[in-house]
Amino acid sequence: MTVIDGRAVAARVRERVAAEVAELRAVGVRPGLATVLVGEDPASQVYVRMKRKACEEVGIASVHHDLPADTPQSELGALLESLNADPAVSGILLQLPLPAQIDADEMTGTIAAEKDVDGLTPFSAGLLVHGREGLVPCTPAGVMELLAHAEVELEGARAVVIGRSQLVGRPLAQLLLAANATVTQCHSRTRDLAAVCREADVLVSAVGRPATVTADMVREGAVVIDVGMNRTENGLVGDVDFAAVRAKARAITPVPGGVGPMTIAMLLSNTVRAARLQPGAGSTAPIHG
Ligand code: NAP
Repeated sequence: MTVIDGRAVAARVRERVAAEVAELRAVGVRPGLATVLVGEDPASQVYVRMKRKACEEVGIASVHHDLPADTPQSELGALLESLNADPAVSGILLQLPLPAQIDADEMTGTIAAEKDVDGLTPFSAGLLVHGREGLVPCTPAGVMELLAHAEVELEGARAVVIGRSQLVGRPLAQLLLAANATVTQCHSRTRDLAAVCREADVLVSAVGRPATVTADMVREGAVVIDVGMNRTENGLVGDVDFAAVRAKARAITPVPGGVGPMTIAMLLSNTVRAARLQPGAGSTAPIHG
């Protein structure tokens, strides 16, 4: 049984990204990430800080736009349009959630597809469904990276994804399908979830509820990926009953230290990809704002 070490895999991705950034900078292109935060949600402030620090570490330029909580939607829209047009900005990250007066779907949809490093615009989602090259949401991309690292054979494998959010479940099911797995997507209305899960060679839980996956739901020798992040009085736990399930699984991700560290690593990777998708974009000058 292998416990998949997300921190180690994320560190490797960051090294790879740093090397790619150095290559791009040598030819006069500096990938740049613009982060936009509306309001003062403490968790969002921490996430944005972590993302900017990670950018610095690999040589990606970052610029942050802090907007007050009562910012009108029109003002946020105008900022996003200006970032779309700014050649020094390769990627735009609009930190969610947004305050109630702002339509998050509409604002996310304003981001140019080639700068959509979160992969959350309908255009990026459409490219994924069509099997065309585009930017893929970071957490599902991180799950695929972990599966590759653990040398999990996906071709013809039965994959079950619990969860169907735009952020995780849906894009992950598409990625697994593109890797030629036979994919079943489960959600809150799925009948007999346990029986469906027991069919899985690869079982991914992205629900946000502790003990969603218990040992009786896991086939002997399955690979189990836990995307869940639940804050409990016992600290951060995933969706999977790790202690019991690890005894049956061939490989499993822990929480913390599994999928979590991959998300920012894949954001960095997407920012470099975005820079490459925009020929002529980027600059050696620090990005302004
Ligand atoms: P979400 O938007 O709340 O989606 C949860 C999904 O779980 C929904 O599709 C829901 O079904 C399904 N669900 C809820 N209860 C269920 C049940 N009893 N049985 C089967 N399915 C059930 O959440 P999300 O944004 O996808 O995030 C999921 C989890 O991943 C959260 O814990 C989140 O914190 C974590 N997460 C971690 C990372 C990371 O970096 N590690 C990144 C993103 C998210 P319906 O569609 O029918 O409602």
